[in-house]
Amino acid sequence: MNRFDITIIGGGPTGLFAAFYAGMRGMNTNIIDALPQLGGQLMALYPEKYIYDVAGYPKVLAKDLAQSLIDQALQYDPSVHLGSKITDMQIRNDEKAGEGKPSRYFILNTDDGQTHKTYSILLTIGIGAFAPRKLKLDDVARFEGKGIDYFVQDKSKFKNKRLLIVGGGDSAVDWGIHLHEFAESITLIHRRDRFRAHEESVKQLFNSPVDIKVPFEVKAVHGNSNVEGVTIYNNQTNDEEHLEVDNILLNLGFVADIGKIKEWGLNLIKGDIEVTSKMETNMPGIYAAGDVTTYPGKLKLIATGFGEAATAVNNAKAYIDPSSKAFPGHSSDMEPPPGSK
Ligand SMILES: Cc1cc2nc3c(=O)[nH]c(=O)nc-3n(C[C@H](O)[C@H](O)[C@H](O)COP(=O)(O)OP(=O)(O)OC[C@H]3O[C@@H](n4cnc5c(N)ncnc54)[C@H](O)[C@@H]3O)c2cc1C
Repeated sequence: MNRFDITIIGGGPTGLFAAFYAGMRGMNTNIIDALPQLGGQLMALYPEKYIYDVAGYPKVLAKDLAQSLIDQALQYDPSVHLGSKITDMQIRNDEKAGEGKPSRYFILNTDDGQTHKTYSILLTIGIGAFAPRKLKLDDVARFEGKGIDYFVQDKSKFKNKRLLIVGGGDSAVDWGIHLHEFAESITLIHRRDRFRAHEESVKQLFNSPVDIKVPFEVKAVHGNSNVEGVTIYNNQTNDEEHLEVDNILLNLGFVADIGKIKEWGLNLIKGDIEVTSKMETNMPGIYAAGDVTTYPGKLKLIATGFGEAATAVNNAKAYIDPSSKAFPGHSSDMEPPPGSK
């Protein structure tokens, strides 16, 4: 199995910029994220919000910043594994390691049964692995992938389908706006009268053909092997309605958890990973950057995550290849990235 020079756990803004830098330093790079998409909090929590404090952008939508970071990161063609959460880590010694390679490497295991070998690790896991918040109803698990979805990877899946969207945040509202051209019909329910989504998007939703019902919640999902219908109820009056639907898209937000990485033996301070000014953790070969780290004066911002990513990757480069300097030189003096447009 291929041993990566660096495995970046977490494809948020910090991990993406780190992947670019690792590519620029000629490192064989692997990115792993628990979500089915790259972008971290930017894509999962606030894709439609403007960000005003990223250097070089007077203002930028979170989803546009994420896309630019993805484009930049993929120029050196890293391996990308999505929908895969890192759980365990083992350290192995290899006295026969090749010239210029450390005699120690790591084996990483994921919750979907994959194994990755790597000479160094960069933890850019933010506030932890995101998982979609689920409905606490008996039949939901049975219908996952059989009509119940949490993410939209292919809009055509909903072509000519009767769709129920559940939620009141940016994702629910955006999918209401963007899927009604594909679906035969869309009903959107939200348990509150007020939506949490961007004001302009909510206006657009109310001007669309989507049937909006508030304050409604799901009571039961029906069907044999696939979803065939749903009972919803008004949580003020308890009035029930039965809807015949083919698909249900649950956009109820995310829960985040650092999970088993807490048990690796890293120094943690109030749940954050303690790092040095080189972004080293207490475990040689394991670096950390971005929201998950702590040191005196730490600020949890995208801007600081970028600087930390560059520091971490360049020091990881010098760790795996002691003949390399940490300072990368100036990118303006280098060959353009192979994927540069
Ligand atoms: C509503 C909102 C508005 C914000 N506005 C701003 C702003 O205006 N300016 C600003 O600077 N900051 C803002 N922030 C904060 C900013 O989004 C974070 O500082 C930034 O996302 C941190 O980036 P990161 O890459 O360190 O972590 P994250 O963005 O959290 O990404 C971490 C990634 O790691 C993955 N992951 C975690 N654990 C695992 C695991 N075990 N296995 C695999 N993958 C894993 C997660 O799925 C996630 O994709 C805002 C945050 C929120 C919630």
